[in-house]
Amino acid sequence: MCSFNVKENFPWYTQKFSKYPSRIRLVAGIKRFIANCCKRPEDRKRREISNLEFESVEKILLRIVQSECFFEPRNVPIINVVKDREELLRVKIKITERKDDPYFLTPILLPANCGLTTQLVEYLYKSNCHGGTQILLSIIKGKYWILKSRRIVRQIIRKCVMCRQYSARPAISAHVALLEDRVMDVKIFEVIGIDLAGSKLPKKLDLLNLTNFFES
Ligand SMILES: [Zn+2]
Repeated sequence: MCSFNVKENFPWYTQKFSKYPSRIRLVAGIKRFIANCCKRPEDRKRREISNLEFESVEKILLRIVQSECFFEPRNVPIINVVKDREELLRVKIKITERKDDPYFLTPILLPANCGLTTQLVEYLYKSNCHGGTQILLSIIKGKYWILKSRRIVRQIIRKCVMCRQYSARPAISAHVALLEDRVMDVKIFEVIGIDLAGSKLPKKLDLLNLTNFFES
């Protein structure tokens, strides 16, 4: 189960589903299946994947990613990195003495050139209502320390089709000359029009035609 190569952009557990939580649940399901095989039928777990199982599997995947990308100490580009009790590489930031969430004080170190990292950022981006670069970076740093995170975040935001339609420039077309009826000098109410799915310009004020027009 643990023999995958993170140096490929998308390892096997990232190809089946398109969302980060689905991938974690896939591996969690495999892990539960293996555990259930060793149990009696009445002791087997059959419900939804619990939060504890989810977090446990997420840590396993992140640990594998770290072990493949930072397999030697010289591969770790940051000095103040420590290993916690679960063998996860964490970055010790300057405010470690502060009383705060341990995930924030010692975020999990993740590489930049990894498919799982990209998918994690995509998931955080979509689950936080397509926030901007700064918002997403602050959310990421609440739990993870991703190398070159700003570049990854910008790439993901640039690729987002939903956000792109708001930042796209409006289409510009050449001006078209107005019709003669709209530019010539006339007396008041000599030319009238009704704007309904495009302008309709009767030449004369004909009440019968107008009534027929509205009824049709
Ligand atoms: Zn977006």
